[in-house]
Amino acid sequence: MLLSLLFSIGNMGRTLKMKFARFVAPSILFIPFAQSLISCPFPIPWILCEECTVFSCLMNPKTTPVRRLLLINFFVSGLSVGRAFCSWICPYGAVQELFSILGRGMNFKPSRGLINAVRILLFFLTFSASLTLYYSVIRRTFPLPPLLADLMFKVGATLLTVIPTGFPALIQLRLFLFITLLVVVFIVRRGWCRVCPLGSLISLFNKVSLYKLDFDEAKCNDCGLCSDLCQMGLDPKKGGLDSIDCIKCLDCVKACGRSAITIALRNELKAIKHKIDLWGLGWKTEERS
Ligand code: SF4
Ligand code: SF4
Ligand code: SF4
Repeated sequence: MLLSLLFSIGNMGRTLKMKFARFVAPSILFIPFAQSLISCPFPIPWILCEECTVFSCLMNPKTTPVRRLLLINFFVSGLSVGRAFCSWICPYGAVQELFSILGRGMNFKPSRGLINAVRILLFFLTFSASLTLYYSVIRRTFPLPPLLADLMFKVGATLLTVIPTGFPALIQLRLFLFITLLVVVFIVRRGWCRVCPLGSLISLFNKVSLYKLDFDEAKCNDCGLCSDLCQMGLDPKKGGLDSIDCIKCLDCVKACGRSAITIALRNELKAIKHKIDLWGLGWKTEERS
């Protein structure tokens, strides 16, 4: 009993230290991110961005080398560690994590089908609105098939004119997104992250990233701690680690006292590494037993 209590306290300490580490970058980046949220001409900052302070479009001739590097870094981090941007860098994710504590008692778990439906709808609507602004405000060409661009333009134009609040269209959309965020986050942990259009884009990296999380069934005693902790409502024992929703926060890795969840190279890379080892070139990385 005493041992398990000490173990839990130890685990809590490790988890808290990591949580603190996860808030460092979001806190530093909060001001430029918040500024970009206010100044960005698009409904979703960083999508089709023209003068974003954080990331900028590679196609934009005004993009400075530093911004290009930041954008390249965005892809490099995605390809190496998947959606970790969402748990280690994005200030909005960190704010949600803090807000979620307030509504923790509710912890409503929406079905995966509902999340996916809202995510697809939101992505299409907001991307359409961004594209509309891109065409009408910036007046550049965008490399999309004309029919798709035309459809998105119509959806975006309709969306930006139908909300009858009397505020300018962009303010309406931002207001709508902001209020939605507050309500959703209070009821569902990291609720916005589950449908966030930017997160949806980044989530695709989870399927190809060099590093992923592995689950070892033999070591698991089914205590359920990992799924209880997961802010994204995933169950690592049931494929949660392979989900596009996993934000690689490592809460489950740290919490699991039996080391059943580990960080590992993608299987295809393990096979390549094995071949290199066979050739005697000695590329040494840690292998799971
Ligand atoms: S899902 Fe969106 S809001 Fe959440 S952490 Fe990722 S980019 Fe930020
Ligand atoms: S993976 Fe670890 S934390 Fe999760 S149920 Fe199994 S033993 Fe518990
Ligand atoms: S499965 Fe683990 S790493 Fe992924 S979001 Fe949940 S707690 Fe974080």
